[in-house]
Amino acid sequence: MLQFSDTAIQTMGSHVQRHRWSRESVGQLFSRDLTAETIVVDVVTVLKPRWSAWSRVSFDTHRAMDERAAMFEQGLHCIGLWHTHPERLPEPSPEDRALAMDHARAAQPQMTGLVFAIVGTSPLPAGLRVWIADESNLRAAEIFRMPQAATAADPAVTQR
Ligand SMILES: [Zn+2]
Repeated sequence: MLQFSDTAIQTMGSHVQRHRWSRESVGQLFSRDLTAETIVVDVVTVLKPRWSAWSRVSFDTHRAMDERAAMFEQGLHCIGLWHTHPERLPEPSPEDRALAMDHARAAQPQMTGLVFAIVGTSPLPAGLRVWIADESNLRAAEIFRMPQAATAADPAVTQR
């Protein structure tokens, strides 16, 4: 199970493509603890794009690797990527699928799956969609919301 922290949602939410002239944003997802039953996306970063347009974005993989190394020093592990789309409920493009599977392949054997999140224009969290990529597939994650003050004993959290 995966959970996005409030700050992660806020960071992604501040980059939603609200306007026709908005450009796509891209970044990485980091978690502090990979051993927990629920993996929390604690930190979401925004990478400086190599170039970006309304519906496409490209980032510098060296810069992404540098960021991973710096975050690792702070105890944060990269678990995936996110970017924005100029559509309400985002769907991965063929390029997105290829990129996600490429990164998943490159991350083996350390990772069996790469988290691939896309933020559309519907208010969050509805506009957030998440896939898990391996070297040959992208599987849509089932999204459900936790109540505001969720605890470990909350049925919405445990009965899954
Ligand atoms: Zn995309």
